[in-house]
Amino acid sequence: MTRPSRVVIDKQALKHNLQRVRELAPNSKIMAIIKADAYGHGLIRVAQTLNHADAFGVACLEEAEQLRAAEISNKIVLLEGPHKAIDLSRIVELKLDIVIHHQSQLNILEQAKLDESIQAWIKIDTGMHRLGFPVGKVSEVLERVSNCKNIKQNPILMTHFATANEMNNPLTQQQLKSFTQICDGLNYEKTIANSAAIINFPETHADWVRPGLMLYGVSPMKDGNANEQELKSVMTLESEIISIQHLSQGDSVGYGATWQCPEDMPVGVIAAGYGDGFPRHAKSGTPILVNNVRCSLIGRASMDMLTVDLRNQPEAKIGDHVILWGQSLPIEEIAQHADTISYELLCGVHKRLGFVERG
Ligand SMILES: *Cc1c(COP(=O)(O)O)cnc(C)c1O
Repeated sequence: MTRPSRVVIDKQALKHNLQRVRELAPNSKIMAIIKADAYGHGLIRVAQTLNHADAFGVACLEEAEQLRAAEISNKIVLLEGPHKAIDLSRIVELKLDIVIHHQSQLNILEQAKLDESIQAWIKIDTGMHRLGFPVGKVSEVLERVSNCKNIKQNPILMTHFATANEMNNPLTQQQLKSFTQICDGLNYEKTIANSAAIINFPETHADWVRPGLMLYGVSPMKDGNANEQELKSVMTLESEIISIQHLSQGDSVGYGATWQCPEDMPVGVIAAGYGDGFPRHAKSGTPILVNNVRCSLIGRASMDMLTVDLRNQPEAKIGDHVILWGQSLPIEEIAQHADTISYELLCGVHKRLGFVERG
């Protein structure tokens, strides 16, 4: 018997969203961001489907290894760069690009003996204060880069926004200004924009854009939805009803008895839970589609099961179809009900689920 819960990946939607990025940023090359197993969608599957991307961005060498092992020949950028000197020879063998964001990486590159030089992306911290060289150090860093035989002579300049998902946060314009000033007169390629900036701030598109979330058909905007951006959701998390109870007014449901029936009513049990990546913090009232009709989560999510109010679907039967998020039920809404963001839900989908491809 197969478990009724599964993840459906719509490859046509994925291609559509890449095309949408091309329309929004027609003069930029695209680095498709596929870290964290392509935001939970499957690293190799997504790389093969988006084989027209100009580059792929991943977090670590292990992800790049998997891509090369699957004969993905596109440019691949290690977004955190090398962590250790020992990584460098493998980086050369696999023909990877690296982000250099810290002096310690320059040190190991200066000391290494490599067969070939490496393409570098120099990350500048303009206000996110996570990775990157401070603005005041950039000319010194570029000097070291140009004297380092292990680094190719055309570094690409890069920065990352902290607040591009908010329309009016002044930090975004400050970061842009700071980056533009530091790059003034430097004849290198540049990259700034993540999904939110691709959508909201065309002036940030530069030579390369770096879309992540929007490729998966999800809006990066606070309170946004993907339809507004003409994006198509790629992942559907679906399951089935495995039991139905007819409960009485006052009966409580689930662990902690956090929810009581306001009247006599049918309650369905769904074969998916936090062990599959459905958020345990989702509140009663989180929407769930049963036979494509909106119903509500009630009580706490368990490891393998959820309980759903079936008053909107009184005729529902065991085996009926359930959607927890997907094209007809935006993951943005589920994230809001669980006090989290879509990114976390996507990455958290459990690999024990079967993955099915469509399109
Ligand atoms: C993850 C990441 C992105 C993509 O961000 P989204 O908000 O998913 O578009 C872009 N650039 C860098 C450096 C990243 O780490």
